Amino acid sequence: MEARSAQEIWETALGELQLQVTKPNYRTWLEKTTGSSYENNRFVVGVPNTFVAEYLARNQRSLIEKTLIGLTHPGIEVHFQVASEAAATGQTTGPGGNARYTFDNFVVRQSNRLAYTAARSVAEKPGASYNPLFIYGGVGLGKTHLMQAIYHLAQKENFKALYVSAEQFTNEFVSALQAKSTAEFRRKYRHVDMLLIDDIQFLVGKEQTEESFFHTFNELHNANRQIVLASDRPPKSLPDMGDRLCSRFEWGLIADIQPPNFETRLAILKAKAEQQEIEVALDVLEFIAQRIQQNIRELEGSLNRAVAYAKLFGAILTPELAARAMQDITPSSNKTAFAPELVMKVVAERFQLTPADLVGRKRDRATALARQVAMYLLKEGSSCSLAQIGLEFGNRDHATVIHACRKIASDMDGDPHLRRQVLDIQKGLQRSPRTRR
Ligand code: ADP
Ligand code: MG
Repeated sequence: MEARSAQEIWETALGELQLQVTKPNYRTWLEKTTGSSYENNRFVVGVPNTFVAEYLARNQRSLIEKTLIGLTHPGIEVHFQVASEAAATGQTTGPGGNARYTFDNFVVRQSNRLAYTAARSVAEKPGASYNPLFIYGGVGLGKTHLMQAIYHLAQKENFKALYVSAEQFTNEFVSALQAKSTAEFRRKYRHVDMLLIDDIQFLVGKEQTEESFFHTFNELHNANRQIVLASDRPPKSLPDMGDRLCSRFEWGLIADIQPPNFETRLAILKAKAEQQEIEVALDVLEFIAQRIQQNIRELEGSLNRAVAYAKLFGAILTPELAARAMQDITPSSNKTAFAPELVMKVVAERFQLTPADLVGRKRDRATALARQVAMYLLKEGSSCSLAQIGLEFGNRDHATVIHACRKIASDMDGDPHLRRQVLDIQKGLQRSPRTRR
């Protein structure tokens, strides 16, 4: 099979692996791997260096094989291979080999519009608009996607661009020091039209590398070459480096990416399904968008996982099946099963109502809101089906329950007060001795 399919399979596998190993473990060993090739029974995973190859081969081979078997066929054997020099230095498509990371398939909404617009303008006219451009935002919100989109577009327009992670930059710098080849290192980094360094927070505390970075930075900046940096935190939260960078930002731009709201998450899921040419029912996408709120990588991973799960069982993908596919991965709440009576009691108290109000027909705003919150919590926190929940709430139909759950999920996005209120109740429920059903 061609490399593209290996990468696709591997991305789905990563979605699953991410949920099976701890976060630090994932970030250290798996995050930067790629699906290199898949032929007969041999699946080759591209890794950044031999160290990672050895670690994975020794410690995670069976887990990885098990995951791949689930996605391909039994008897598959996994091999770990250091990705080619070219890929490692960002000459090709960079980490993840992601030519998919383009502006065209980046979903633009309010949460990321500023970063997107700035990125585009920088890619089209390096050095001419914002220099440096500093993009920051939480994990999995699209920083690397934008960086690579800039890189691809700039390259296409024949600018000489270089994309590296701060980690690669550090490794190369350290190797250059050891090999006494710093001249070469400098040549590489200072003779470009555009330098993109991802995850710049990695440099914090690495004094020598930071120093070298600033020399590079100044030289490029003085020569009017474009610099783009991405970080998981704003410049002012980067000790030392932040201060030095900040003085440069009179000419530059700091653009943040915020977590996506419900509508945005849904739009992204739709786009991902379309890109992969898979048809997924709207209620499934809505369900996933409601469940995964903070991280677009997880959002994608959950979609892939749900699709793989349905394929595996030859079943139609429904919200219920997606829920099952995602069971072990979503945070805490679904491990506990809230009893309906308890949810109603607690919610009613919070809203200064009685459980009877929630079950009854009163439709004033306060009661309606409390009722919807209770339905939402029950849906999130128990294995009750929509129909069951409807039944508990005075025999309402399941469409009413769906409507309530969607409404609360999306209102929580835009209304911090409501969000806090709901999360508080949820926490309270998790702590209270509960009756399982
Ligand atoms: P970060 O670098 O901020 O941790 P990434 O850029 O790696 O996050 O994004 C994680 C995943 O989410 C990627 O697969 C990326 O394509 C996807 N993604 C993030 N934001 C968007 C968006 N606005 N539209 C489409 N996909 C997105
Ligand atoms: Mg990133």
